[in-house]
Amino acid sequence: MEKITLNKLTKEEQKNFFQSKYDYYKAFNARMIIVAILAYLSFFITDCNIFGHFATETFVPRMIVILPLIAYFVLSKKTSNYRVMVPVTYLMIHIIIWCTDWATYILPDRQFAIPGMVIMNIIFVCAGFSAPFKYSTVAHILFIADIFVANIFIHYENLDMMYLFNIPCVIAICAMHKMMQNVYCEHYFAKDQLKQLVVHDQLTEVYNRNKVKELVDPTTNAFNKFSSLSTSILIIDIDFFKKVNDEFGHEAGDRVLVHMASVLKSTVRETDYVIRWGGEEFLIIMPGCSIDNAEKIAEKLREKVETSDNGVCRCTISIGVAEYTGGDYINTVKNADVALYNAKNSGRNKVVVYTPKA
Ligand code: GH3
Ligand code: MG
Ligand code: MG
Repeated sequence: MEKITLNKLTKEEQKNFFQSKYDYYKAFNARMIIVAILAYLSFFITDCNIFGHFATETFVPRMIVILPLIAYFVLSKKTSNYRVMVPVTYLMIHIIIWCTDWATYILPDRQFAIPGMVIMNIIFVCAGFSAPFKYSTVAHILFIADIFVANIFIHYENLDMMYLFNIPCVIAICAMHKMMQNVYCEHYFAKDQLKQLVVHDQLTEVYNRNKVKELVDPTTNAFNKFSSLSTSILIIDIDFFKKVNDEFGHEAGDRVLVHMASVLKSTVRETDYVIRWGGEEFLIIMPGCSIDNAEKIAEKLREKVETSDNGVCRCTISIGVAEYTGGDYINTVKNADVALYNAKNSGRNKVVVYTPKA
């Protein structure tokens, strides 16, 4: 199987990939932010230890992180767009860093700066799960800039050590994020291929019945996706197909089915759904297609099948057409079936439109 990599995808597909990555790790991301904030708040106890009394001095720089935390959760309720939420996640981490700098500026003892950076690097590792690699790299490199800016105020005694420790950490963690993204990429495509297999017929490569489940509301079985459009359904059955199998063999019958599916697929619009409904029966769902138009298309299909060469023998089809008027789609399929039955009974190789009296 061909290995699919991200750079082979279109911009839109890449967006879908990153959105899926964010959605998959969204809950983890939110918990990670909470744990990071709780860890940060717990350092207030360390402050009290350093001061030897209730550290009113660092109370504000510690507690103030609760405000962006609230903002983060309000925003995450409103949107799941990774282009918003990933930068906001990194902003939260940088806010924790800035507040740490603020508290460190006040503290008399600054020997905990390097252990503090270890913790921040662990948080960057966790944030990388849900983020596109480019976002996490930029956000993590900015951590070095944070140290540079903080040093203007704090004047770290061991600034060299902070850079020497942090730069390799940033490089290693960015490399790890790249590998993590590649692993998710494999997982994403494997999942996508499985999803495609589930809704496609292996012989004809058109959709199978499972596709309908994606189009209907699971409780009402209604086509909610295109409820505002006039929608038509075609049911197509090959005439005397048993004879094809009997005379030319089952394999030749299969070739006819494959040819039939390709004629149907190439004749209808991209937005129509061609489904192998059963053995040699196909269903076509046509959103945004009036019954009159559906009848014309059905006639075109019938003619094309009759005149095209399937490599086995001349075959014809009968088609039942019905209009979807809301509610359970299966009622429309039943109506189309009634019309198909009439087409078969009136000589086959015909298109019949369902009318309630038919
Ligand atoms: P009618 O005009 O009334 O539709 O006659 P028919 O012979 O087509 O009758 P019917 O629709 O009942 O026949 C369906 C036949 O389709 C029976 C079965 O052998 C054949 N069939 C179903 N699935 C497959 C398949 O996957 N491959 C092949 N080769 N034949 C299949
Ligand atoms: Mg049949
Ligand atoms: Mg048949």
